[in-house]
Amino acid sequence: MMIVLALIFIYFQVFRDDDLKFPSSIKRKVFSGLYAGMISIFLMIFSIKVNDATIVDLRHIPLLVVTLYGGTLPGLIALVVIQTARFIIGVNVSSFFSFGLMTSLYLGYLVLRKWNAKILTKAFWMLIYSNVVFSILIVYFLLKLSGLSNQINFLFWITSMITGLMAIYTTEHLRKMNQLFSQYKRSATIDPLTGLNNVRSFDEALNNAIHDSKSNDQPLSLLVIDIDFFKNVNDTYGHSAGDAVLQQFGLVLREAAGHEDIVSRNGGEEFTLLLLNSPHDTALEIGERLRSIIENHTFKVNPEENIHITASIGVATYPETIVSPDKFYSKADQALYTAKRKGRNQICSNNVLKVHEYAK
Ligand code: GH3
Ligand code: MG
Ligand code: MG
Repeated sequence: MMIVLALIFIYFQVFRDDDLKFPSSIKRKVFSGLYAGMISIFLMIFSIKVNDATIVDLRHIPLLVVTLYGGTLPGLIALVVIQTARFIIGVNVSSFFSFGLMTSLYLGYLVLRKWNAKILTKAFWMLIYSNVVFSILIVYFLLKLSGLSNQINFLFWITSMITGLMAIYTTEHLRKMNQLFSQYKRSATIDPLTGLNNVRSFDEALNNAIHDSKSNDQPLSLLVIDIDFFKNVNDTYGHSAGDAVLQQFGLVLREAAGHEDIVSRNGGEEFTLLLLNSPHDTALEIGERLRSIIENHTFKVNPEENIHITASIGVATYPETIVSPDKFYSKADQALYTAKRKGRNQICSNNVLKVHEYAK
């Protein structure tokens, strides 16, 4: 039992924050199947030897857990691993019985898995099913002549139920913990309203980008984007309509940006677009295109009403228009302020020598 619990624990340590990245990737499924198979092999090694040929153990429990949570493929992989190992240990009547037993357990688990019940209820009935099949197949056929059957059967029922329930309980608990961990990690880096990076991950991305830009000698541009007169939207249509607009604004930005670009909501109605490897002129063109997309987009404030909004944008580029990268954000923000002052719905460069303003 300790082996099962310890190994389940290790599994969840390995997959601590992969739940979101690979919800059900093939690699993870294969790994889970192999891992469950490996636990079963351990269990076979530390088993109760009934006689020279027959081993009674809990090898079905990892199969049960991995089929319950993982489904057909991981279960099948575990089944193959378990059975291959059993044939390596010895090819005899018992190993063929094991083949029949494990296969029928696996098929039964697949059926019970489809049942629309709580996971713990399903697990409980899977255990009962395992024990019944075990009793019928092993005890009453294989050990019929040995005279040990009732003792073995009793021992098996008890250990199988206890270990099985502990394994399921542990798996369920660790799964929940991992989900919470992922959620927590996500909420620390993602803005919940728009799903964009929050200011914390923006800072990190900016630092990394500056570092890369220095070492690869590539230009880096930052666009600071602020919605014009956003307070009016809230005042006219209400705060939740404002939220809906911010959400749609995030989607517009995400769509307009390239794959590599880093889009963040830096707070309130202020967003940023970090353009990796983009010279100043390109950044101004991208910014202008974005400004025009925003101006022409219709935003839904409620099912019946659409509105139009505009945004002002400030642009700075390292090393073209700023010397010191720690001034990056404040320089782009100054340019934004200039755009606001000059009448909004426009884009301004922080480079005074190279005033790029696009007429409305
Ligand atoms: P300006 O053109 O000068 O940027 O005008 P503005 O009204 O957009 O700017 P101001 O800074 O005066 O107001 C920003 C408004 O944004 C005030 C605040 O109510 C609103 N706001 C900030 N965060 C949120 C939010 O998460 N949801 C909603 N609905 N409104 C927000
Ligand atoms: Mg604003
Ligand atoms: Mg603002």
